[in-house]
Amino acid sequence: MDFFLHDEPLSAHTTFKIGGPADLYAKPEGEKFPERAAQILSHARNENIPLFILGAGSNVLAADAGFRGIILDVSGWRGCAIEAAAGGSVLLRVNAGTRADEAADFALENSLSGLEFLAGLPGTIGGAVWMNARCYEKSISDILAGVEILDESLKRVAVPYKHEDYAYKKSPFQTRNILIVSACLHAQMGREAKNAIRLKMETYRKDRDAKKHFSYPSAGSVFKNDHRWGKPAGKIIEELGLRGTQIGGARLADWHGNFIINTGNASARDVSALIALVQEKARQTLGIELEPEIVFLAP
Ligand SMILES: Cc1cc2nc3c(=O)[nH]c(=O)nc-3n(C[C@H](O)[C@H](O)[C@H](O)COP(=O)(O)OP(=O)(O)OC[C@H]3O[C@@H](n4cnc5c(N)ncnc54)[C@H](O)[C@@H]3O)c2cc1C
Repeated sequence: MDFFLHDEPLSAHTTFKIGGPADLYAKPEGEKFPERAAQILSHARNENIPLFILGAGSNVLAADAGFRGIILDVSGWRGCAIEAAAGGSVLLRVNAGTRADEAADFALENSLSGLEFLAGLPGTIGGAVWMNARCYEKSISDILAGVEILDESLKRVAVPYKHEDYAYKKSPFQTRNILIVSACLHAQMGREAKNAIRLKMETYRKDRDAKKHFSYPSAGSVFKNDHRWGKPAGKIIEELGLRGTQIGGARLADWHGNFIINTGNASARDVSALIALVQEKARQTLGIELEPEIVFLAP
């Protein structure tokens, strides 16, 4: 069932639990999702209404003033299927709104390896492809065979994977006005026993729990890493002595320099001020530019 909500608070749809009301919040669901999404996109374009595509909202900082336009929520478009299998190689088709964690579970149920690193990632497959999400030394582009999109003219087209289109936290879709409909992912059959796949997934999920990923609302790591620094952004922030710094309700986690947590009543303004403070300190002390990886959703 599709639903449309007026003045829907974005704090209810982002893992930061921050964000004011969206004028219109659209969540098409079920088999007709691609057609319904195309209609909404077409309406927004024809009427010149700003539109933002939302997955699980796990990498987004939404403004306190909300969004003057349409939020198109993709998270109701779920489903995984085995598309092809030859020898030990399997291609999985995963709809964009499927949780990455759920896709990993689907692979496990079918004794397929290759998706374990996605276990515990709180985003959707569409969001993971758009961000080229990276966990446990593996990026989603490492297992991507292709992506189906609604392109700029709202045609449903296949975009085959090309190595040169992807880099650390970069996908070709970040510079295009498209909607990711589904992703085709490589998996392997018979390379690992089902129990070994399950154990790996449990290890990753436990690691996230141990690192307190879900203890407070957040959007995961705030800043991108850069191999030229020789250490992760979180370590740099820790060495700058900034862990535990708080502005309003937003706090740099005491246990992870790259996590900003919402201690209860943080505003987007608090988070933005904290981001600016960290950037300024890194610039002045080390001469480096910390680049946010979170997406800013402004009115
Ligand atoms: C506790 C925690 C831990 C995290 N750990 C990691 C980690 O280990 N590695 C990592 O890389 N990230 C991590 N993240 C960040 C986040 O989960 C990932 O970036 C995830 O891939 C984002 O997916 P999403 O569905 O939440 O996207 P959203 O946050 O909803 O959107 C992110 C961007 O993608 C676009 N987008 C989303 N879906 C589509 C679509 N179908 N079509 C077109 N554009 C789309 C949105 O417009 C937006 O610009 C973490 C976040 C949290 C809260």
